[in-house]
Amino acid sequence: MTILTTSNGAPIADDQNSLTAGERGPILLQDWQLLEKLAHFNRERIPERVVHAKGSGAYGTFTLTKSLSDYTIADYLQKEGDETEVFLRFSTVGGEMGSSDAVRDPRGFAVKFYTREGNHDVVGNNTPVFFLRDPSKFPDFIHTQKRHPVTNLKDPEAMWDFWSLNPQAMHQVTILMSDRGIPKDYRHMNGYGSHTFALWNKQGERFWVKWHFKTEQGIQCLSGEEAAKITGENSDHAQEDLVQAIAKGDFPKWRVYLQIMPEKQAENYKVNPFDLTKVWPHQDYPLVEIGVLELNRNVDNYFAEVEQVALSPSNLVPGIDASPDKMLQARLFSYPDAHRYRIGANYNDLPVNCPHATRVENYQRGGAMAGTRCPYSSQGTVPSGRADINYGPNSKNGPAENAAIKAPPLKISGDADYYDHREGADDYSQAGNLYRIMSEEQKSQLVNNIAGSLSLASEPVIGRMLAHFRKCDSDYGQRIEILVNQLKEK
Ligand code: NDP
Repeated sequence: MTILTTSNGAPIADDQNSLTAGERGPILLQDWQLLEKLAHFNRERIPERVVHAKGSGAYGTFTLTKSLSDYTIADYLQKEGDETEVFLRFSTVGGEMGSSDAVRDPRGFAVKFYTREGNHDVVGNNTPVFFLRDPSKFPDFIHTQKRHPVTNLKDPEAMWDFWSLNPQAMHQVTILMSDRGIPKDYRHMNGYGSHTFALWNKQGERFWVKWHFKTEQGIQCLSGEEAAKITGENSDHAQEDLVQAIAKGDFPKWRVYLQIMPEKQAENYKVNPFDLTKVWPHQDYPLVEIGVLELNRNVDNYFAEVEQVALSPSNLVPGIDASPDKMLQARLFSYPDAHRYRIGANYNDLPVNCPHATRVENYQRGGAMAGTRCPYSSQGTVPSGRADINYGPNSKNGPAENAAIKAPPLKISGDADYYDHREGADDYSQAGNLYRIMSEEQKSQLVNNIAGSLSLASEPVIGRMLAHFRKCDSDYGQRIEILVNQLKEK
């Protein structure tokens, strides 16, 4: 029999009764075991993520099927057949921790590759684009997706008002309101790195790339009615689906592709390759298949792993780098910042976050919870193998840099200014392209979904939105207008 203990390991004699002065008497302050239990209970939560609070996750394997040695020195992308352990966290975006999995909302699709040269994270969504191209509007935009500060209710007026004044969102709004806006669950949707990233090879040549993860389970979606029914019955249906599929050995898979653009071509390409509201059309940059990602191991501890996993697009490895995408640049700051706030300065020491295939060697010391030993590392991650030396350079054979993995220089130019990214921007063509490739059934679902929500907004907001939809495609705008008018007459 395992003996119950306190957190200092002392065996507990009685966990059913508190220590009281007499049978009917009050509890004694010296019942430290009770106090510890209550105090720890009060601290069971960490701040939930402001976005992507509700999540599911699992471990798995990425198998490389095409060597990328022509494009990158990244160690895990060299040898065909090479396998890399991964952790994938799925999420909804706007809801709180206890909210339904069956909502119309983008889904987070965030992969951590535990490579031999450190962890590489691709932190994207189930959509290839985003609502914004400049991060200055991100907090404002998220406020419109969250609860009204006075009523604490979701607010369609705020949401449509913001979009009507920011037509850069039209492409993502079209995806969100389409049939793919409510994936059936996490297994039946694609993932995208969304941002443009850099790869660079040993010749010092740079390539811009976009990541695509295409579901092998097939795309399956829910209608608004189906989603409402599921929400009423089981608000965790996607979590349940993922855990059960993996538990019974039905491992979900995604084929992994890259779009690859040589650095030079970015200068003249018709689409700004660093604009997160745009895709690169496949006919210009076809998908190159590079591997397969499989999820095959459920977590042992939801809180320790899914809640505390700290994914960040700043987790980059030699041969892989950021791009000038403004939204990416902001996320390089804000993701680690969020994790420091949620978890603490040493968040990367937790077993789910620390490298599994290499070990950390640096001169960072101290901070809350310093000293955690990563079970995957032979000598622990903090302090490093040389706990006695906390400065560099030193003459004590401490860890030193490796100049060979320095990224090639990136040419940048221009005067520092607040450039208006809305001026001359084409916010409509790609949203229109998406509308035009949809089947009649998809178009009909799309316009119905939009009209149902937009009709709840005020007249000026509706007027501005209809003008935007018409600019995407006149048929798109016209059909929404007819439906909105019908709904308003009711
Ligand atoms: P293609 O015909 O070559 O590709 C169309 C893409 O659209 C496919 O990847 C398809 O995904 C995806 N798609 C189909 N229906 C929907 C939907 N309801 N919501 C989101 N994606 C959908 O055309 P282009 O490359 O020229 O792109 C045309 C439009 O397709 C774009 O404006 C963009 O909105 C959308 N798209 C483009 C992507 C890209 O990287 N070029 C990626 C995803 C979407 P699947 O094959 O999985 O069915």
